[in-house]
Amino acid sequence: MNIAVDLDDTLNHYIDHLLTFFEHHLGKKHHLTKQDFLHRHLHQCLGISKKEFDFFFNKFQMDAFMHEMQPHPDAKEVLPKLAQHHDLFIITGRLEPHTWEVEDWLKKHFPGIFKKVLIAKNPYYNSNDHLKTKEEYCKELEISLFIDDDPNFALDVAQEGFQVLMIEQPWNKKTKHKNIVHVKNWHDIAAHINHEK
Ligand SMILES: [Mg+2]
Repeated sequence: MNIAVDLDDTLNHYIDHLLTFFEHHLGKKHHLTKQDFLHRHLHQCLGISKKEFDFFFNKFQMDAFMHEMQPHPDAKEVLPKLAQHHDLFIITGRLEPHTWEVEDWLKKHFPGIFKKVLIAKNPYYNSNDHLKTKEEYCKELEISLFIDDDPNFALDVAQEGFQVLMIEQPWNKKTKHKNIVHVKNWHDIAAHINHEK
């Protein structure tokens, strides 16, 4: 089947990486952890203004440090096996100018696993507004299963009738929909897919 996979915090430890960079940016220790991210308005989670956040976030995205982000070890283990039987696509809300960085990172950690990388409209940043939404890509690619951690993306796609697996994170624990199944990790995802076969 055709499976769509999100990138940040689905394949990698994005928020943990962002918190480490935030510490460098502040020049002092903070006491935030991923557990403080109970929703996706990141500036509020970090306790800074939207303007300060935009400046910081731009630096974060442009920094070479981005390339050091590590994938989930269980994703590295499970995805090559899934790719033998299914067609896998990345659908990410990463900002469009950073497409090549996404492709580079995937080449390094998941070589040959994904058929295509699609950059989608992102409800949190208007610079991707000209692009298709994740649910539009799901229709176009005839996706049977969508995997994401973000409550807004997951709900938008689930409401269009697609089956969604959502990797549990502090910000999505309360998200509920009849088409959304919460999973703990990539081993759970593999078990779910193998059970469906
Ligand atoms: Mg994500």
